[in-house]
Amino acid sequence: MSTTGQIIRCKAAVAWEAGKPLVMEEVEVAPPQKHEVRIKILFTSLCHTDVYFWEAKGQTPLFPRIFGHEAGGIVESVGEGVTDLQPGDHVLPIFTGECGDCPDCHSEESTMCDLLRINTERGGMIHDGESRFSINGKPIHHFLGTSTFSEYTVVHSGQVAKINPDAPLDKVCIVSCGLSTGLGATLNVAKPKKGQGVAIFGLGAVGLAAAEGARIAGASRIIGVDLNSQRFDQAKEFGVTEFVNPRDHDKPVQQVIAEMTNGGVDRSVECTGSVQAMIQAFECVHDGWGVAVLVGVPSKDDAFKTHPMNFLNERTLKGTFFGNYKPKTDIPGVVEKYMNKELELEKFITHTVPFSEIKKAFDYMLKGESIRCIITMGA
Ligand code: NAD
Ligand code: ZN
Repeated sequence: MSTTGQIIRCKAAVAWEAGKPLVMEEVEVAPPQKHEVRIKILFTSLCHTDVYFWEAKGQTPLFPRIFGHEAGGIVESVGEGVTDLQPGDHVLPIFTGECGDCPDCHSEESTMCDLLRINTERGGMIHDGESRFSINGKPIHHFLGTSTFSEYTVVHSGQVAKINPDAPLDKVCIVSCGLSTGLGATLNVAKPKKGQGVAIFGLGAVGLAAAEGARIAGASRIIGVDLNSQRFDQAKEFGVTEFVNPRDHDKPVQQVIAEMTNGGVDRSVECTGSVQAMIQAFECVHDGWGVAVLVGVPSKDDAFKTHPMNFLNERTLKGTFFGNYKPKTDIPGVVEKYMNKELELEKFITHTVPFSEIKKAFDYMLKGESIRCIITMGA
């Protein structure tokens, strides 16, 4: 029986309050409106960005809300004006979009779509500002336009990448955020030359994906920096060659790295969300040519402070969302890299839990035990 045009009742993990365990609820998911698609989510995973906004310690709180933005699923139905997607397509919802029509989308350089760029404060759909989720008539806010901790969700079609239907969604779902973000931060933004050294701050999934990018680019040294030394064993499998735990040193980590690298590392990629680590990642690159790339999501009141002389000495600081990939244009190609065995995804997936036990995925991340935990919907 087709559900097109009907309200769908399904399970969703709802965050009612900041930092309180998600509650499994039956929600109503309205049909997709203009330029929207409704997706049956099959697999989702947890990224640290979900946890920050759920904790809402350094972020604007917006509740009740359905989190989740790293996922894979199948299109159930499409709204008016959607021509590039149809029911049955295998897709990855993406937290940032590509409308295809704005100056940013027309630019080869920009991935900051005017209409669909990441917006953490929006709780409704762009079309009418309303939510497509409700419980007994009470609206539940969306998160990043994706809200994948629900068996069905509604997403703007510009935030949906159509991928190879042969790709296993339980693996490629991680391409929808963390993997592409880290990989692209190195390959598309830091752009290390073959034989150069790269320092990676933060060895979670995003940082390890950045390390994977460094390996693919032919980096000679990959220096991993993390406050959690347990990360170091895992990181060896990702080609990280040396490790620095800032807690093991009396001097600033910038100085430790400068001493290890004869004056500074060629490239650094920050994947922690800590503003201290962002400053360290910038100040540890070599003068004359060093490039630092910021990826971690800061708290809302953070400020980046460094001496301007660090720029005059010809260091470059950049930042990126989603590794500068255009979601619709480029992401199918990242999935193909996995299908062609150029990219390994399995090593990122350390845990799997059924949707009913989503709390465990939060526990693994908060304890720093998981790289990625895949949450299987319908289980
Ligand atoms: P994660 O929690 O799995 O990994 C973060 C790692 O950083 C942890 O191992 C932690 O011990 C380490 N760390 C924290 N503070 C540190 C410090 N001061 N110095 C050294 N190491 C430190 O998180 P993740 O899912 O890999 O995400 C990493 C960051 O990237 C988060 O801030 C997340 O919000 C952000 N992110 C950004 C984008 C983007 O498009 N820019 C996309 C996805 C995630
Ligand atoms: Zn656009």
